[in-house]
Amino acid sequence: MKRLTIAIDGPAGAGKSTVARRLASLLGYAYIDTGAMYRAVAWKAIQQGIPLEDAEGLTRLAQTIRIAFAPGENGEQQVLVDGENVTQAIRTPEVSALSSPVSAISGVRRALVAQQRAMGDGGGVVMEGRDIGTVVLPNADIKIFLTASEQERARRRWLELTQKGQTISLEEVLRQIQERDARDSTRADSPLAQAQDSIFLDSDGVPVEGMSPVEGVVNRILAICRERGERSLCG
Ligand code: C5P
Repeated sequence: MKRLTIAIDGPAGAGKSTVARRLASLLGYAYIDTGAMYRAVAWKAIQQGIPLEDAEGLTRLAQTIRIAFAPGENGEQQVLVDGENVTQAIRTPEVSALSSPVSAISGVRRALVAQQRAMGDGGGVVMEGRDIGTVVLPNADIKIFLTASEQERARRRWLELTQKGQTISLEEVLRQIQERDARDSTRADSPLAQAQDSIFLDSDGVPVEGMSPVEGVVNRILAICRERGERSLCG
C-alpha cells in the first residue's frame, strides 16, 4: 500500500496542527510537529541559561538534544526532551517568542532538519512547519500551504491559550503573531514561503456546508490523498 509523505506549511495559528493531527490519525500515519522541535530547543536554552547571542551554544544544544514524540492520554501527542515531558512547558508565550529567533540560527536549523528528514524517511507521515515543502521534504507527495487571516489566527491562538488558563489579551496575541510572522517570513535561512508545487488552502473560508473550517480543510486534503493513490481511503 502506498504510504504518502504529506507536508503542511503556513504561518502561526493557521490550524496546521489540528489539521495535521487529524489527518495523521485518519490515515494511520505519524504526525511530526516541527515547530515543537524549535520550541524544545528554545525551552532547553532557557533551562540551561544559553543566551540568544550564543549561536554556537544553541547549535550544539540542537545537535545533542533528544526530542521524541510519544502518544499521550486523551489522544494528544506528548513532546519529550531528554526524557522529560515538556508538552505544556513549550507552549508558554516566553517559549513562543524565543523559538522564532532561535529557529533563525542556521546551525540550529541544520541539526533539526536532519532529524526531521530521518523521521520523514519511508513515508506514512504528516509533517507540519514552515519549510517542510520547500526544504525538509522537497519531494513530498502532497504539499499544502495553509493560512487564514491574521485576525482569525490571533483569535484561535487566544482561545487556545485562555482555555489553557493563560491570561493574555487578544491584542497582545495579535501583536505576537504579527511579530513572529514577520520574522519567520524575512529570515535569511529557509523563510516561511509557499512551495511552488503546493496547494494553497485558506482555513478562514473553506466553504463546505455543515463543517467547521478545519474539517473542511481535512476533507479537501483527504480527497487529494485519494487522487494520489492512498489506497486505505479508496474502499
Ligand atoms: O509552529 P510553531 O508556532 O509551534 O513554531 C514555533 C516557531 O518555530 C515558529 O515561530 C517558527 O519560527 C519556527 N519554525 C520554523 N520552522 C519550522 C517550524 C517552526 O522555523 N519548520
